[in-house]
Amino acid sequence: MLTKTIYVIIDIIAVIDIIFTIRALFKVKAAYGKRLMLTLMVAIIAIGASIVVALANNAFAAEVAYCVYFASIDWILYFLAGFCLLYTEHEKTMNKLAVPVALIMAADSVSLFANLFYGHQFSIYEKTMYGTVFYQTSIYPFYYIHLTVAYLVVVLTLFFIIYRIAKSYGLYRMKYVIILSVLLLVILLNLAYMAFSMVLDASVIFYPVAATLIYFCTEVFVPRTLMSTSVGRAVDNMSEGLLLFDINNNCIFANSFSRYRFGIDPENYDFSCEPIASVIDQLDTDGKKYGEVEYIRETPAVTEYYKIRYTSLTDRKARPIGSYFLIRETTEEVIYRHEIEEAKINADNANRAKSTFLANMSHEIRTPLNSILGMNEMILRSADDPLIREYADNIKDSGDTLLSLINDILDFSKIEAGRMEIIKTEYSTHKLIRDCYHFFEQPAGAKDLYLHVDFDPSVPRKLSGDLLHIKQVLNNIISNAVKYTKEGGVTVTVSSQKLQRDKLEFVIEISDTGIGIAKKDVSILFDAFKRINEKENATIQGTGLGLAITRELVKMMEGTIYVDSTLGVGSRFRITIPQDVADASPAGPLVLKRSAETSRYKESFRAPLARILIVDDVPLNLKVAAALLKNTLVQIDTASGGDEAISLCRRRQYDLILLDHRMPNKDGIETFKEISENGMNTKTPVIMLTANALSGADEEYKEIGFAGYLSKPIDINALEAMLISLLPGDKVELM
Ligand code: ADP
Repeated sequence: MLTKTIYVIIDIIAVIDIIFTIRALFKVKAAYGKRLMLTLMVAIIAIGASIVVALANNAFAAEVAYCVYFASIDWILYFLAGFCLLYTEHEKTMNKLAVPVALIMAADSVSLFANLFYGHQFSIYEKTMYGTVFYQTSIYPFYYIHLTVAYLVVVLTLFFIIYRIAKSYGLYRMKYVIILSVLLLVILLNLAYMAFSMVLDASVIFYPVAATLIYFCTEVFVPRTLMSTSVGRAVDNMSEGLLLFDINNNCIFANSFSRYRFGIDPENYDFSCEPIASVIDQLDTDGKKYGEVEYIRETPAVTEYYKIRYTSLTDRKARPIGSYFLIRETTEEVIYRHEIEEAKINADNANRAKSTFLANMSHEIRTPLNSILGMNEMILRSADDPLIREYADNIKDSGDTLLSLINDILDFSKIEAGRMEIIKTEYSTHKLIRDCYHFFEQPAGAKDLYLHVDFDPSVPRKLSGDLLHIKQVLNNIISNAVKYTKEGGVTVTVSSQKLQRDKLEFVIEISDTGIGIAKKDVSILFDAFKRINEKENATIQGTGLGLAITRELVKMMEGTIYVDSTLGVGSRFRITIPQDVADASPAGPLVLKRSAETSRYKESFRAPLARILIVDDVPLNLKVAAALLKNTLVQIDTASGGDEAISLCRRRQYDLILLDHRMPNKDGIETFKEISENGMNTKTPVIMLTANALSGADEEYKEIGFAGYLSKPIDINALEAMLISLLPGDKVELM
């Protein structure tokens, strides 16, 4: 009885094992797992049958259970063989063999049962072992046929597995060898079992054991080995160096890169060896878990740059277990960076050369232009013949255009170089708009265009912002509106929108009834040097820089500019610029006085008692300045260079000095310094009168100590205004 109980217990353990394996197999994807699962399920049936045999108390029940048992073995082998074939990449063979082998197995199973009823080849007899009665089968020839079929399938499978082993290599071969070994083990155990002719056939237990083994070997052991081997190979082959150290800072691994590049032998390598020693030296590793330093390796032949990264290693409980160093070569990066830096220096130099060239060019053009416009002014003042006056007017127009062109190019280069600055001043909104109006009143009138201003009286009286640049923006847009309008006119609408307490959005709209801009051109309107409809507008002067500068200036002032235009109907430019409020009281309605018709020049003051000195190395410039100031009756001395000016200043006291910057021998600044240190003119206001019109020039000169700055060509109004403000009040008589 005890033997039976042991037998049943073994079988129950087998069933539990199978159930666990089936659970595990649910995780295995693909068809392989499915076949293994079927193997195990049929094994449960076999074991069940085997238990019935053990417990049977009559021969018929034992016979039926035996039949079920043997038939089950057919199907266990069928599914196991299928699994092995699939798992050893014999999918096609498996598909071909599945049906015929299933038919053979089915025939074998049917014949087992048929035999039970008709052939009586199973001869069941009682056998007593260890005092317990068992029913057992005698083995007849038919049974051998059944065995042959079953083992044929197994042998066939073995053959395919061996074939796969022969075809595969390395790591992958291991996977197939494991399957082969497990199968062979099962067969051997089975044969051994039969050889000893045990009372009951419990060999079916080996199948689930085999399935479990195969499952763990193929799903757990093989992938892990594969992974660790692959990681090892990858680390060894990688194009960076890896050094692993134990807790005592002894090297435990150095990959190929570090071995070949730095000749590291892990056996005799620790923190005191190069390059790690100097990395550690530069790196404060105390308490730090990682860090990176640059390392330069210089050999007579090459210089190599590296970045070496240190990281400390800890176990899961954050206890230190060692460290590793990752060595990355950065030579190419460094060379590339050097090249970029060099290119940047070259570009900066080129840019500086361009700026210097522009400054020089502007200076060189302004100097003769000063003479042209100055002399022309003399003609305008003195000529009475209308034809000569008209010619002179034309010279003035062209001169002004040339000047604005030079200014535009200079501005553009300043913006490009990021040298344009925002300078805030308080200004009167009325005055700003009135100035713009008067500036364009005549050009518009000359084309028979109206120029309307619609000023919202609630706009604050005074704002604070970059007046010069706002003026430049408005002038650009209004000048375009006048330029590109043939009939009708231009309307300037001024309003404001409150933002915060002391901030508002200054809104200026300029609409014209001009030629308009096609939709497709709006996108390129603000691009530098782009002019639209060049052919049609060929007679209109322009460079295509105005709007590009305008947009940049508006952007600098954090404002916006929008265009709304219809071809042939007109355009509307809307500019909004955030400004601080300096005087919030409403400005009230704007009164525009019509400026006098092209009035002839009339001096704004006279100062016959004042004496000034004009210094310039170009004789014509001296002549121009003196001629421009002739009507003011100011007494004028001239000097053609620094030294002459200094000696004059030693002898005589002046009320004001106009000094050119670029002069041979002693330039304006050197001359100024000497004048203001020695002689009789240390306190005399000195005005820099120069063709240098670069941005910031004004401030630079004032910083040096100049009382004022005027650019050439001389604007007579600006010159007179400056003289009025700087000459001693008691000597000036306003006109
Ligand atoms: P330009 O010096 O040629 O006037 P801008 O940058 O000021 O350069 O303007 C670029 C182009 O935009 C002009 O050539 C002109 O074709 C077009 N444009 C500008 N303003 C107007 C306008 N009010 N009406 C029609 N076209 C305009």
